[in-house]
Order: sequence, then C-alpha cells, then structure tokens
Amino acid sequence: MSDFFEGSVPARLGKNVYEVDEGNSHIEVNQEIAKATGAGKVLVKVCPAHVYSEEPDGTISVEFAACLECGTCRAVAAPGLLKWHYPEGSMGVMFREG
Ligand code: SF4
Repeated sequence: MSDFFEGSVPARLGKNVYEVDEGNSHIEVNQEIAKATGAGKVLVKVCPAHVYSEEPDGTISVEFAACLECGTCRAVAAPGLLKWHYPEGSMGVMFREG
C-alpha cells in the first residue's frame, strides 16, 4: 500500500500547515439571518474542520483559521447567510498530503 493511504484522517490532516491571516477572516456569517432563521445550524453540521459553532443566543462563531477551503459551506448556505472568499495571497491551509 502506498504512503497515501496510511494513517488516520486526523493524523493526515495534522500534517497540514496553516498561515493564519490574524484579524482578517475570510469567512463572515450574517448573524441576523442566523439568529432569525436558524440557518447557521447547517454550517455547524457540514463543516469537516469544525470551523462553525452555535452559541446559546443563536449566533454562529467562526474559527476561520481551521478552514480547509473545501467549499462545502458555500454550497449549502442559505442565500445571504455567508460571505466567503479565499484567504489572501499565501495565507490559509497548505496541504501536505493528497
Ligand atoms: S470551506 Fe470547508 S472547511 Fe472551510 S469553513 Fe467551509 S466547510 Fe469548513
């Protein structure tokens, strides 16, 4: 078996390197829509990196530094809920496998 298939998913993801653009999130959730509709719950469920979490008041917290840039949240977000763009320049995730 090649090295590509060895190790658990968390172990393989742990080899990624992140250049974090501190204070400059590439993800923004419209908190009014999230609170009024509960539409942010789907972001919490689908993100493989657990970037999103729901707070007791219905707002959605965003740990953008952990983003894998997979695009899943963009595909499922309700209209107007999410603003997402790739991190600037050489910022963001750098995959070491696959
Ligand atoms: S792009 Fe992927 S990893 Fe990044 S926040 Fe969206 S679902 Fe999570």
